[in-house]
Amino acid sequence: MSDTPQYPIESGCPDGFQYLHPVMKKNYGNWDYHERPRPGVLRHVAKSGDEIWTVRFGTQRQLGPYEINLLCDIADEYADGYVHFTIRSNMEFCVSDEAKVEPMIAAIEEAGYPIGGTGPSVTMISHTQGWLHCDIPGTDASGVVKALMDELHEDFTNERMPNRVHITTSCCQINCGGQGDIAINVQHTKPPKINHDLVANACERPSVVARCPVAAIRPAMVNGKPSLEIDEKKCICCGACFPPCPPMQINDAEYSKLAIWVGGKHSNARSKPMFHKLVAAGVPNNPPRWPEAAAIVKTILEAYRKDALDWERTGDWVERIGWPRFFELTELPFTKFHIDNWKGARNSLNASTHIRF
Ligand code: SF4
Ligand code: SF4
Repeated sequence: MSDTPQYPIESGCPDGFQYLHPVMKKNYGNWDYHERPRPGVLRHVAKSGDEIWTVRFGTQRQLGPYEINLLCDIADEYADGYVHFTIRSNMEFCVSDEAKVEPMIAAIEEAGYPIGGTGPSVTMISHTQGWLHCDIPGTDASGVVKALMDELHEDFTNERMPNRVHITTSCCQINCGGQGDIAINVQHTKPPKINHDLVANACERPSVVARCPVAAIRPAMVNGKPSLEIDEKKCICCGACFPPCPPMQINDAEYSKLAIWVGGKHSNARSKPMFHKLVAAGVPNNPPRWPEAAAIVKTILEAYRKDALDWERTGDWVERIGWPRFFELTELPFTKFHIDNWKGARNSLNASTHIRF
């Protein structure tokens, strides 16, 4: 055995600079201004006088080899071989020759990809897709995104909203995902069903008890075997107990629903970051097109588009008009389930990147 301690190899992300277009690299930190000549196209002008055009388009997010080769061929032909993915799974091609912009747009559209997602548009929905491989009990977020972006195609290719609209989805209710102008998340509405025959063999019971955020799980003997029980009055149906104990199944064809939230944002621009708030609960999780969720999102977007002032994000808009008016304008029912009466929220509500004293 060697005396030298073995350290893990921390490779991390590769240095992004190597992938930047040369004009971007040359003018890094020295840009003069930028503008949007049309939806989906940005023109950046550097202090040196250099210019670069960026064309943004939406993708289906889960790209196979066919799509990647197709898009890379377009990038090689028109975009000097440089591609860039945004955090919302849009793709961007940069080019320093204005003459290549229109042919590039034509080639991208010919391949079936919409140009847009810039400025006050509904840009690509950010989403997690861990329901395929993650251990948390989730649902098909990618399917919801595809169905919804098909419906919102015109809002992606046009800049006709008061401000940018960032929609998010996440496949479970507790982990990934952030604050969105509109968020569509899974919502389990019944506590887990426990298969007591399997708990003793499959679960480390103290870990499961520790996992519950509201201390609703306790050890119990069931049919002479060590198992667990849930205080269903306390359970908030989060699903966190499923990963350490798969016999505690929470996903359910009937009782796993979707919930829609409105008014969140991460940015500090113009107003401080905001948490989104629940506006529709118990929405059917209805593949393959999720028509009920899509109808609610479109209603909210239409009310926002008509009623918000320029530059108001959805959260700013609702702050100005008030939640009662929001529910009047959208005609969504307001129920007792909208009231957050969980006392643990006292801690989470006091959260923003603004300095407080
Ligand atoms: S949202 Fe939840 S289920 Fe989806 S990847 Fe994240 S933790 Fe896993
Ligand atoms: S679903 Fe969540 S709240 Fe309910 S028992 Fe499991 S971990 Fe606790």
